[in-house]
Amino acid sequence: MAKTKTTYTCQNCGCQTPRWMGKCSDCGEWNTLVEEIIAPPDRQQSGFKPTSKPVKMRQISLEDSQKRIHSGSKEFDRVLGGGIFPASVVLLAGEPGIGKSTLMLQVMLNLQNRKLKTLYISGEESLQQLKNRANRLSKSSDELMAVAETDIQAIEYHLAQIKPQIVVADSIQALYSPELSGAPGNVGQVRDCAARLFRLAKEQQFTLFLIGHVTKDGAVAGPKILEHLVDVVIYFEGNTQQHRIIRAVKNRFGAANELGVFEMRHNGLCEVNNVSSLFLNPHHQPMAGSSIVCSYEGSRPLLVEVQALVGRSSYGTPQRIVSGFDHRRLSLILAILEKHCN
Ligand SMILES: [Zn+2]
Repeated sequence: MAKTKTTYTCQNCGCQTPRWMGKCSDCGEWNTLVEEIIAPPDRQQSGFKPTSKPVKMRQISLEDSQKRIHSGSKEFDRVLGGGIFPASVVLLAGEPGIGKSTLMLQVMLNLQNRKLKTLYISGEESLQQLKNRANRLSKSSDELMAVAETDIQAIEYHLAQIKPQIVVADSIQALYSPELSGAPGNVGQVRDCAARLFRLAKEQQFTLFLIGHVTKDGAVAGPKILEHLVDVVIYFEGNTQQHRIIRAVKNRFGAANELGVFEMRHNGLCEVNNVSSLFLNPHHQPMAGSSIVCSYEGSRPLLVEVQALVGRSSYGTPQRIVSGFDHRRLSLILAILEKHCN
């Protein structure tokens, strides 16, 4: 087989070079060249037949395709917009170690218990480690199908053989395409692997969960480059000691900005039933400087306690410091209060 040809394309101006360079020779931007596969141009002549078929809209049945699958977690279902949408592609992004794999493994164990055909692609952990993790969640993992693989061609082969209904790729940055010379995790690799899995998900009609790491130093390509491709983007945020908040920042099948709250326990992520209780301190008497606000997050009202403290300043100009709230928005609100409410 002839070696697949690749080219480096500048993400800023679109200029192409055969070799990687740190700086684009055309527009002068740094670090914008990304490796891409050159598609063979002679598809038409080589008897190319597409697998898709145009149909009339009345031939399309909506019943099965709109039945959402319950993940077994109410909070996760809420963030997804009422359950897992069949044949959708969901990106689950967050910092390493925040609980993305734990949450997905919990969901997969719930689904396999309900006799759905599942496949967990583990690119970072061995299958023994995965089983250990499942045991810690104190749920049976007997029927969960898993494969430790990072080669995208091998994964495509397994997906065609097994024909699963729900697939988790953990993580997208660990997968690589042998046609590209770049290391796993770089922009070209992440984009190519995600695009190939996305295409298969839509062709074979399985739901795909991509786990993507957000790293502070940017050593690996972040989930940002995949956001436009996928149907749903969920971010893990608020890494406090115990609680994990997930938020849908994009959702083609439901409202964005929907929140889900979990508590990290020794046996996995547990749902928090009364979310407001997390943000409230029980005062038996009214306290000066404390006020309860009702904030609307997604479709759910949340009660949040706001605390304020005023002290004498030892500096010439007093400072205003805020934590957990946008500083510029605070300045704006204070300016309005000063101007219109004296
Ligand atoms: Zn350029």
